[in-house]
Amino acid sequence: MIAGWFTGDGEGFRLLGTRCSACSTVFFPREDTHCRNPHCPGGRLVEAPLSRRGHVWSYTDSRYRPPSPYVTDRELPWVPYTLIAVELPAERLVVLGQAAPGVTVADLTVGMEVEVVPGVLHEDTETTWTTWQWRPTGVGA
Ligand SMILES: [Zn+2]
Repeated sequence: MIAGWFTGDGEGFRLLGTRCSACSTVFFPREDTHCRNPHCPGGRLVEAPLSRRGHVWSYTDSRYRPPSPYVTDRELPWVPYTLIAVELPAERLVVLGQAAPGVTVADLTVGMEVEVVPGVLHEDTETTWTTWQWRPTGVGA
């Protein structure tokens, strides 16, 4: 599991970012050291749940192993998946994530509304690693 990047489950599932108390800039992945806004005098970084819904900004079929924090066990065959960049208007952020299982590039259009859902990143006999995924709203509900 990726500690501190999300919270809750089901309808309560939220990505967790941090918000600067001085300039209100939101960071995801969370920034806990110092505000990265060059025009900010520097504020306190407070944990902030992000909006559940956003709009597709771009998407692609990923044919390569993703970078950290994704699990990359090189012993396992790599399964391509759909990667979506989602714009969260309230936070003025673009958040990357995998599409929910069964969602392909053929199901997506730029500007489509999607919501964040918990998903399984990887599992073995003992442990399930959870991640976030994006799913078009109104699908599977
Ligand atoms: Zn700031």
